[in-house]
Amino acid sequence: MAAFEYFKEHVAKASALLELSSETQALLMTPNQVLHADLTIPLEAGGTGTFPAYRVQFNNARGPYKGGIRFHPEADEDEVSALAAMMAVKCAVVGIPLGGAKGGVAVDPKKLSQKDLHLLAREYVKAFSEHIGPDQDIPAPDVYTNAEIMGVMLDEYERITGKSQPAMITGKPLSLGGSLGRDTATADGAVEVLKALMEDRHLEADVLTAAVQGAGNAGGQAAHLLYSMGMSVVSLADSKGTISSVEGLDVEKLLMFKEAGNHIPDAGALMEHAQVGPSEEVLSSSADVLVPAALEEQITRENVGKIQAGIILEVANGPVTPEADAQLHAQGVVVIPDVLANAGGVTVSYFEWVQNRSGYYWSADIVREGMQTTMRKAYKSVADFASERGVSLREAAYAVALERITEAMRGRGQI
Ligand code: GLU
Repeated sequence: MAAFEYFKEHVAKASALLELSSETQALLMTPNQVLHADLTIPLEAGGTGTFPAYRVQFNNARGPYKGGIRFHPEADEDEVSALAAMMAVKCAVVGIPLGGAKGGVAVDPKKLSQKDLHLLAREYVKAFSEHIGPDQDIPAPDVYTNAEIMGVMLDEYERITGKSQPAMITGKPLSLGGSLGRDTATADGAVEVLKALMEDRHLEADVLTAAVQGAGNAGGQAAHLLYSMGMSVVSLADSKGTISSVEGLDVEKLLMFKEAGNHIPDAGALMEHAQVGPSEEVLSSSADVLVPAALEEQITRENVGKIQAGIILEVANGPVTPEADAQLHAQGVVVIPDVLANAGGVTVSYFEWVQNRSGYYWSADIVREGMQTTMRKAYKSVADFASERGVSLREAAYAVALERITEAMRGRGQI
């Protein structure tokens, strides 16, 4: 099933809980604007390349549109729309005054040179420059884009508009007005929510084991934090394979190995008592906490029966399909949903935007404290709703968010 259908299912369930009218429900399932352009660039290797690009502006009732841009071969209108919708929900869950948008370019960035990627970033901004801006729509990094690409996009935007406008994009390099703490914010926020849930349930880190899928920016940082908290990380995977050890992995050593340009399964030869296997093996690890921090649709109807974890922390967007989600909920597995778990990224993006607009820059401690307070408050409103109504954390997160979005739409006289 397509990603946007999944979103609609979540909205339908939450709308039933909130007793929203079918007209309101329909509005919550429809993007405000879908922008499309084909970007053509000369390639360093010769010839030209044309890449379909999208910006979907989903809902801006609560504030300017906000959301990342991904460079991924499978980016298409359906996926970008679903992710844009999820951004609106995410911003509402954490209570920041922003709406939801997302961008995507259908490209395999591993096949392009750095120069090509810079040109593509500039073309993207040229194509959509009239629709983006600090009060309109604020992009950020997502899958296979990073601070460097944000810096180039900012440069192109300022070239077009002739003004300094650092608040038009977040996740920028520090030298261009980026925020301290933004690079690790997604995983930092997810682990903060996990800690709040563990406190609620009187769980101690040192008796828990964890498995992490993804060893990039988010997965690597999540593994590092869980390990530093005293959890035994028994499985870690990248797209090439899984490494596991019942005795616990040396996470710092593995992350250094990965950062040096190696693949995780190749570390098997260096580590005693470790076994390597295919990438998907991490999902069926016997760990207590499973952290999918890679791509969408990892836990599906086909493999949900193999899941052994009691807690799933969704650092990636959409890693569990609705069918698998329902089965996990029925089995008593606690899924901390993406729209709550990974909202630390956009929370610190919001802080970055605030800093850019005020021209006053915060210390790392202030950013961290603000992020932690925001995440804990969001967790509490979701967990309270879930226990009051006897629903999953995902249903609760969507309900809390849709309540806030519809309140803003009502205030505007849109519904
Ligand atoms: N791409 C990230 C997400 O999916 C961050 C978005 C942002 O900071 O605007 O939440």
